[in-house]
Amino acid sequence: MVASILSIPDLRILSYGTTIAGGLLLWILEGLNPFFSREKRRALHAKLNLSIAALNLLILLPSGILMAFMLDWSRTAWPGIGILALPPVAEAIVILLLIDLLMYIWHRLNHETEFLWRFHSVHHSDATLDVTTSWRFHYMEILFSELLRLPLFMLFGAGIEHLLLYSLLMTPVIEFHHSNLSIPPALDRLARLIIPSPMMHRLHHSTLRTEHDSNYGSMLSVWDRLFGTFLMKDNLDDLRLGLDNESDTDKQQLFPLLLRPFRP
Ligand SMILES: [Zn+2]
Ligand SMILES: [Zn+2]
Repeated sequence: MVASILSIPDLRILSYGTTIAGGLLLWILEGLNPFFSREKRRALHAKLNLSIAALNLLILLPSGILMAFMLDWSRTAWPGIGILALPPVAEAIVILLLIDLLMYIWHRLNHETEFLWRFHSVHHSDATLDVTTSWRFHYMEILFSELLRLPLFMLFGAGIEHLLLYSLLMTPVIEFHHSNLSIPPALDRLARLIIPSPMMHRLHHSTLRTEHDSNYGSMLSVWDRLFGTFLMKDNLDDLRLGLDNESDTDKQQLFPLLLRPFRP
């Protein structure tokens, strides 16, 4: 369905374009109207997170190509939920919901499994939350998530066009809820009826485990409400972001962060 309206290269360009344009716009806006006004070295902070993202692009390019090839192949062998003969729009919606549910489960596993937390904590060790934090993930975390998700995507019958469409919808949400943009509380309340809002995700980056083990949603907030992990506080003025003892300058560098999961 999706591929018949937009070609895969169109979706790819749209997805990458939205990621870059959304990121740039939010970076400018959060500079003009920040929620937390603590960060004095925004450019340096962005440089570190963008270096991690650029390295991920390089390291993960072969696995991305392999994943696209495997999805393409599996659809000729197994129809997935195509077996239900749903109308194409309904099929695409079901696949997008399943992907988002998987993202919720995966994120929760990253918090509840000590081994996975080692890698995911690189994302949480950022003591300054802004749009660039949305691109800060250890490459092993992404690789593990691909390994887990690929067989399930194949089982659903998801195609590369579904993944690109999901990325097109999800990435601006992820960038928005990581951003340091101050928005009216009423707008945040309205947003969190559908998506994980900035206030929700700020709590998810709290130093307190009781607070950061919550609000796991990526694109939709419904999963947190459904599975009892939704958390909200009226006032985040006292919120401390990041992880205890991790904000030293010598730890917040590219190579120490890459090696962080392997520290005893
Ligand atoms: Zn997390
Ligand atoms: Zn985050």
